Amino acid sequence: MRHVKIVATIGPATASPEILQQLLSAGMNVARFNMSHGTQEWHRATIQTLKHLSLQLHAPTAILLDLAGPKIRVGDLPQEGRTLFRDQKVALALHTSVPPPCHTHTAVDHEIPIALEAFPSMLQPGHMVLLDDGHITLRILSYQKDRLICTVLAGGHITSRKGVNFPGLPLDLPGCTEKDLQDLELGIDLQVDYLALSFVRRPQDIHSVKSLLSKRGIHIPVIAKIERPEAVACLSEILEASDGVMIARGDLALELSPEDVPILQKRIIALANRMSKPVITATQMLESMTRHLVPTRAEASDVANAVLDGTDAVMLSAETSTGTYPLETLQVMDRIIHKTESEVRYSSYDAALSNQARLAIPAAICQTAVSLAKKIAAQAIVVFTESGHTALALSNNRPPIPILACTPSQFVVNRLALVWGIFPVLFNLIEETDQRIRLAQDHLKESGLLHTGQLIVIVTGERLGTTMGTHLIKVHIVA
Ligand code: PEP
Repeated sequence: MRHVKIVATIGPATASPEILQQLLSAGMNVARFNMSHGTQEWHRATIQTLKHLSLQLHAPTAILLDLAGPKIRVGDLPQEGRTLFRDQKVALALHTSVPPPCHTHTAVDHEIPIALEAFPSMLQPGHMVLLDDGHITLRILSYQKDRLICTVLAGGHITSRKGVNFPGLPLDLPGCTEKDLQDLELGIDLQVDYLALSFVRRPQDIHSVKSLLSKRGIHIPVIAKIERPEAVACLSEILEASDGVMIARGDLALELSPEDVPILQKRIIALANRMSKPVITATQMLESMTRHLVPTRAEASDVANAVLDGTDAVMLSAETSTGTYPLETLQVMDRIIHKTESEVRYSSYDAALSNQARLAIPAAICQTAVSLAKKIAAQAIVVFTESGHTALALSNNRPPIPILACTPSQFVVNRLALVWGIFPVLFNLIEETDQRIRLAQDHLKESGLLHTGQLIVIVTGERLGTTMGTHLIKVHIVA
């Protein structure tokens, strides 16, 4: 059983029922649907197939709908795209399709449409513009209101809809676009387990989506994608407002710089761990495996280092959405995590935890249960949880053994699939404590998760229906 979870982005390479089944059997814990690509019909059909398979295979899986957000993109170019060469002159123009040539404009080699109402007001000659995830670099020479004249510093081939970044510049864009709102409706309709918000800049971006949901009586946990400098400046407030966080290293490295990412990754993970919010480390983890069967040494180290940093989950993007070897990539990621976890010692958590000030009773119970489980070399912790909160609090203490989280809610089962060390199990909670423990023991034995003679620690409460009403710890030998 591995503690760190795997998020796989589903795309054309993985949407068939056969491949989805293989990914589930190989240990995919969270399926991410990236709304920047594909039609609503495609996402609807694929999510429905996956939900069906996950129930059929008894493989708890969270569905994460990743809203595209206000990403600036290249407009419509001819099918063949454009190849930009170093030192050429390019005009970035504010419209969505290529206009007819206009002789009053500065002569340029190419005109690239940008799907944007207005350029950021702070743009100046000398500023950089990055196209296609930073594969192409331009420098602004002059600014003509609806056209930016640039020189090409690093060329490449550009096609429609590729991303555009103005590194480091604050943008006055809405938190949620029209398309995001339509995609949100799809997520509500399909009862997805998590929503991810792209380009979050402040806690209000999260609050507005949450209030939109709560007005309709709907609760879907919201994950903030950290990829803008404004978000880095108010990390604690954003984490406080959200139910989890994704370190979206792709855009983060473009908006800041690649050398900022490693330390930020450690900072965000440490903060999320402290605040008990699940954290996903994302993008280019095994990028070369989109085309090759073996990862680079740097990629293997990257996955292992995210595990050592304390991430809840690691994410695959193009590797599984469009790559040639989606299943093999997932298997490699699984092996790297297993290997790293077999060596890692979580003693730093003990030190950090023992320094904490006075805790609320359920948090103290969870910390004590983990410490007790270590002292007696228990083989698992079994927790009864209705909302999932107690399971999260146990995970936060990073026990070296599995946390078997018994919950009566299928939504909680799915959501806990993202969280470090938790093995969620659908189980009806019986009011009477001793009977609840007996029935759960039988159920977990039948599922092959527990065996007779094993020493376990049980965490529960006497009164059901009270969030965080947990106050009992029991040492138990599986009968
Ligand atoms: C990223 O930028 O790293 C990311 C995860 O976001 P997206 O894949 O939506 O660009």
